[in-house]
Formats: sequence, C-alpha cells, structure tokens
Amino acid sequence: MPAKIISGKELSKELKAELKLEFEKISQSLKRAPCLTAIQIGENSGIDVYTRAQERNSKELGIEYLRLKLVENISEQEALRKIEELNSDPEIDGLILLQPIPEHISAQRLILEFNSSKDVEGIHPYNLGRILISSPTVIPCTPAAVMYILDRIISDYTGKEIVIVGHSSIVGKPLAMLLLDRLATVRVCHIGTSMTGNLRHHVQEAEILIVAVGKAELIKGEWIREGAIVIDVGINRVEDKIVGDVEFEKARERASYITPVPGGVGPLTTVFLFKNLLSLIKNKI
Ligand code: NAP
Repeated sequence: MPAKIISGKELSKELKAELKLEFEKISQSLKRAPCLTAIQIGENSGIDVYTRAQERNSKELGIEYLRLKLVENISEQEALRKIEELNSDPEIDGLILLQPIPEHISAQRLILEFNSSKDVEGIHPYNLGRILISSPTVIPCTPAAVMYILDRIISDYTGKEIVIVGHSSIVGKPLAMLLLDRLATVRVCHIGTSMTGNLRHHVQEAEILIVAVGKAELIKGEWIREGAIVIDVGINRVEDKIVGDVEFEKARERASYITPVPGGVGPLTTVFLFKNLLSLIKNKI
C-alpha cells in the first residue's frame, strides 16, 4: 500500500487554531497585541514572498507584524545599534532577521546581538546551546515542525534507527540533539557521506528518514526501507515546479508515511515562528 501523505497544511491549521486562542489570552495579560518585528536590510524580492506568509499568519493570530526596512548601505555598527534599540523596546516581543542581507554585514553577528529572549527563530547561540543541554527554550522552526509531525505518528523513539541527511546548524544538528533526547539511535549523514558513496547504505537502514539538503531528488525511492517514515525538508525549484530532496512517487511505494513538497514541512515551519513567540512571551510574564 502506498504511504500515507502527511499534510503539513492540515496540521498547521490545527496548530494555528490552538495558537489563536492562546494569543487572545496573552493579549489580555499584555493589554496589547503581541508584536513581532522583522528586520530587512536592502531590497530583495525573495524576501517579499516569505514575509507575505508571516504577515498573513500574524493577522490571523492577532499579532502586530512590523517590517523594519534598513537601507542597503547601512554599516554593521549602525545595524547593531538598531538591534540594541529593538532589544530594549518593551513593546517588541520577537525579532526576525529577514535573509539574505547585504554581503558587507554578517548575519551571524547581528543574530548574536539579538536579545535571546526575543529570538523567535530559535537561532541565537544561547537558544541553540540550550538544546544541547536538553533544556530548550525555543527550537528553530524547522526542527520543531519535524518533531511535531513525528510526534503525531510515533510515541516511543527508543532505539529507533533514525537517519538525518544534512547537518546544518538550523536543521540537521538541532534535530539530531532533539532525537537523541528521545533515546533514538541517530545517524547524521552529510556531504562527506555522499563523497564516500555511503549515503545509500545509511538511508536503506532508516526506520525514520529526515532529509534536509537542498538537492532535488537526491534520495532515490528504491533506497527507502519498507515501512519507513520519510520527512522531506528540502525545497528545490526545478523548472517551474517545487520538489523535495526525495524522489516522492517512488519513495511513496515503499514508505509508510511521507511528507510532500510543497505542503509538508514548509507550512508548519512558518507557524512555529508564532509558537516560539508565544513561548518567549509566556517566559517573561
Ligand atoms: P544548508 O545549510 O545548505 O545545509 C545543507 C546540508 O546538506 C549540509 O549539511 C550539507 O553538507 C549537506 N549536503 C549537501 N550536499 C549533500 C549531498 N550531496 N549529500 C549529503 N549531504 C549533502 O541548508 P538548510 O538550511 O539546512 O536547508 C536544507 C534544505 O531544506 C534546503 O532545500 C532548504 O530550502 C530547505 N528548508 C526547508 C524548510 C521548510 O520549512 N520546509 C526550512 C528550512 C530549510 P555540507 O554543509 O557539509 O556541504
């Protein structure tokens, strides 16, 4: 039987409905709408696409969304000063750095300046570090979305053979830490695994496979273990279509559950920004 397709769109609707109620209560305690501020440096049409989803979700959830545009040629020092101001503004609850930013400024440096208690993306080193010590405050949105999906399917991760392909600091690495905390047996594959020709070998053994690489259909359907759960994080534009990192139709023949691209992890990731905002506000009131 082909795998069940996990609809991130449906799950995100459920999560948004829960968050809406929680934000209504929080707004009453704060005596104002929660405020999320997105910092943009210079112009970039790609940013417009994903901020539209953030704006739309904010509106639905009763959150004030401010988009602060800084000029393209602003110096790093000036940008840091602006962040300091936003950090100390008690009416701003969450900050996002809209990327990409101009090359003369380091995104890492700006994020480091964020007050970690306003870091809704969960990418400040303090928040990432808390994951390492099994005491997270906020989790980066994509790993949080992946865990949310997996928790719907399985309750006991003990000893499960989990293979993560991709070891980025905001997806693969935090996911590995979160899954280790559930006592799963976690393997992390990356470019080195592919270079030595061992990727197929590891993927074939995965009871749960999570792929976050950014290479269209890198994972062949025939590599998937019978009955595996397949979570495809990748987003790749091929001609006029968006596809994932997994050969979807062929993988579906072997897996038990699979996330589609688009419509899988993506829509949930966006909503986790707001779940994080809620956690950060709850921590301070
Ligand atoms: P990233 O920082 O570029 O990381 C990609 C990872 O894949 C790196 O660990 C890289 O290893 C590894 N890699 C590259 N080529 C490989 C290969 N041939 N075999 C095995 N591993 C390989 O990207 P990211 O930010 O983690 O994002 C990954 C993908 O997920 C992208 O398509 C991105 O658009 C998508 N994404 C989706 C969502 C969502 O909501 N659905 C959210 C975030 C990201 P090296 O660094 O060693 O080269």
